[in-house]
Amino acid sequence: MTSSYLDTIRGFYPIAFCTETLEEEVLSYLRQTGIDPNEVVTANCVCSDDINEMQFPLADGSLPGPFFLGGLNGFPFGGLTGVQAFAQHIPDHGTALVYYGPHIGITEKGEIGKVRCPGHDQDSNCCGAVQAALEKISGATHQPTDLDYQEDTIVDLFRANRERILAARYPIQEATEVMYEAIDERLRLLIDQSKEQFKAKYLVLIGSVFINTDHGLKACIEQRTFRTTNLRTNVVTDHLELFRDYLAAGQAGDELLSIKRR
Ligand SMILES: [Zn+2]
Repeated sequence: MTSSYLDTIRGFYPIAFCTETLEEEVLSYLRQTGIDPNEVVTANCVCSDDINEMQFPLADGSLPGPFFLGGLNGFPFGGLTGVQAFAQHIPDHGTALVYYGPHIGITEKGEIGKVRCPGHDQDSNCCGAVQAALEKISGATHQPTDLDYQEDTIVDLFRANRERILAARYPIQEATEVMYEAIDERLRLLIDQSKEQFKAKYLVLIGSVFINTDHGLKACIEQRTFRTTNLRTNVVTDHLELFRDYLAAGQAGDELLSIKRR
């Protein structure tokens, strides 16, 4: 990624960084905190959009998983059943690692909510589900249907935050913030109500806005949450700043150093 494209992204997400080695860095960092990477099982709660599978290295193949908890735009449509099934897959002394959050595209030319997909000569909406829901709250009546219940859930979330979203300079960016908050809140509720099923020792929650880029370039994230819970003692540790410092200390290359400088 060129530095000018990264600067364009940081115009919208000031602490975004590239993710090419994200999982490697997360595991390396977690090892320092006493978590054995060999006993980590992952779940992804991200949008089912195929671009995310291509652009975000959230499971490098060395770990069991991922269990897919997310549906459109990363909302945890897997529900209690999904979270509890995932919980039961974790080794007794192992770690459950959940990556979660909404995604949004930013083109190299600086348009937010768009991305250039492979084989296309025009930009596409990204996330398409969010853009479609925005159109539904902006326009006339919308009839919910069982055939589109995930999208209807997003439409309901946006209706509840309609003024906030439509008053924003970039409604799709604000809608993505609404999604982050809703995903974070729902996921924590699902996990809280599934405590009995988690036999693991640690739970790691890493929440981010995932930022898609034009085809062929590395994707970025802006991390919002990085938290471990010792499920035996209920001690919660916030790693967000510590992980940023870890990356900025040079573990992830020169590009990430700029996080520290900002
Ligand atoms: Zn999407």
